[in-house]
Amino acid sequence: MSASTTRNDRDQLLSDLCPELCKKIPEHAIITNPEELSAYECDAFTTMRQQPLLTVLPETIEQVQHVMRCCFTLEIPVVARGAGTGLTAGSMPVENGVLLAMTKFDQIHEIDAANRTALVDPGVRNLAISEATAPYNLYFAPDPSSQLACSVGGNVAENAGGVHCLKYGLTVHNVLELEIITADGTMITLGSAALDSAGYDLTALMCGSEGLLGIVVKVRVKLLPKPDCASVLLAAFATIEDAGTAIAAIIGAGLIPAGLEMIDQTGICAIEELMHAGYPTDAAAVIICELDGGKEEVADELSSVIDILKRFNASAIEIAQTPEDSKRIWAARKAAFPALARLAPDNYIMDGTIPRRALAQVWKQINVLADQYNLQVVNVFHAGDGNMHPSILFDSSDDDQHKRAFELGTRILELCIEVGGTISGEHGIGLEKINQMCLQFSEKELTQFHALKQAFDAKTLLNPGKQIPTLARCAEFNAMHVHHGDMPFPHLERF
Ligand SMILES: Cc1cc2nc3c(=O)[nH]c(=O)nc-3n(C[C@H](O)[C@H](O)[C@H](O)COP(=O)(O)OP(=O)(O)OC[C@H]3O[C@@H](n4cnc5c(N)ncnc54)[C@H](O)[C@@H]3O)c2cc1C
Repeated sequence: MSASTTRNDRDQLLSDLCPELCKKIPEHAIITNPEELSAYECDAFTTMRQQPLLTVLPETIEQVQHVMRCCFTLEIPVVARGAGTGLTAGSMPVENGVLLAMTKFDQIHEIDAANRTALVDPGVRNLAISEATAPYNLYFAPDPSSQLACSVGGNVAENAGGVHCLKYGLTVHNVLELEIITADGTMITLGSAALDSAGYDLTALMCGSEGLLGIVVKVRVKLLPKPDCASVLLAAFATIEDAGTAIAAIIGAGLIPAGLEMIDQTGICAIEELMHAGYPTDAAAVIICELDGGKEEVADELSSVIDILKRFNASAIEIAQTPEDSKRIWAARKAAFPALARLAPDNYIMDGTIPRRALAQVWKQINVLADQYNLQVVNVFHAGDGNMHPSILFDSSDDDQHKRAFELGTRILELCIEVGGTISGEHGIGLEKINQMCLQFSEKELTQFHALKQAFDAKTLLNPGKQIPTLARCAEFNAMHVHHGDMPFPHLERF
């Protein structure tokens, strides 16, 4: 509880809100006990925490509408939560706000194999969609590494990506229709079951809106047919420059692999230690590449990729011979973050995305910055779409290390902007990167974001304080960080 809030404020809010909520929501679905509330204090960005006023676990759309109407009348903020696997403090509660946990919305309502769509609740786990549609030889393409746990509502709100998004797009490209509850409790439908829809594309707007514009209560997703054939390879490199340049060359040659990932040596060793997948621990970097499609197409593309990898001095190339081999290579990659969690008490995962031509240079520069800040940075990332995930290892119980880790994170994001990239590729902004929004966007652009937010949520009750910084916050941040002179970031080397 902050100095600005007293126990009396909290008690008063509870006594105003609870009787209203209880008119339509069963008591067991409302949590007010501080001990139980501690389970909802943070998402996977565990260094930021806040207890909500209370948590509601609604079971029906009408209950969600009731929560929103009560909070709208009493002007109490609401933060939606899916599975809480977010990496940016997006579903961290706000002080004296309601946390709306969508866990009980876990039904797959319809699988329409002929139209290749499924209608699902927002609390359905990402992987559960592909599991349920496998008998129809269909799957849901967005596949975040957290897909075992994360919810499709969270995927929509974060516009989540994954290893196969290079070829098949992010969540926004795989969602057709959304049912939304607005801040005042109104239900609206965005998009349609058809491939296109008239009017503004508000479905796309909702993807990546991080719970600031509405609560997602139903999602119609697109399903894709499983490819006839898929081939996975693992290539080792003696230098990160060669690995980075090979990635750019594969894309430059007009090839679009289903997945194209890169891991540095510390990442390789950490993964190998946990998964024993046969990754070459003496390599400076590995590339994982998956090609899919018709049999002949895959064979042609595989031979082109191998030529490129050899041209950039790949020291060893393993081509998966069986589905089990492919599974082993991918399962190890997807276990990267648990593997890194064994290396240090805390792990600050960045998400900047850069033009692929700058991969090798930025990777090198990140290592220079890591030395300057005396911290270890591990790179495991979706290289094919330039989505870097440098992971800064640190110990948050050491104040100095904690401070250095966050400063280094800011430097890395500045570096991404400097080379023409962006501060988030798939994890979103939340609270974690809110200051860096001030670096990426001008005052005029942020003003438009605020105008949009106002159109949906005039009282600023939905996930307030996240994603879009106030202009005052930016003025303060920029005064501290933006140096005067010609270059926006004169302390960085220009590319
Ligand atoms: C080990 C690990 C690996 C990961 N790998 C990836 C990856 O490869 N790609 C990737 O994109 N992400 C990845 N993530 C991040 C995270 O899993 C995704 O952002 C995911 O989409 C979050 O889903 P969630 O259900 O956990 O959402 P939460 O963390 O609960 O919430 C995330 C945001 O969505 C909002 N929200 C949730 N549900 C709703 C709803 N029904 N309506 C409106 N807003 C809602 C919340 O308010 C919050 O702003 C990873 C995370 C971990 C821990």
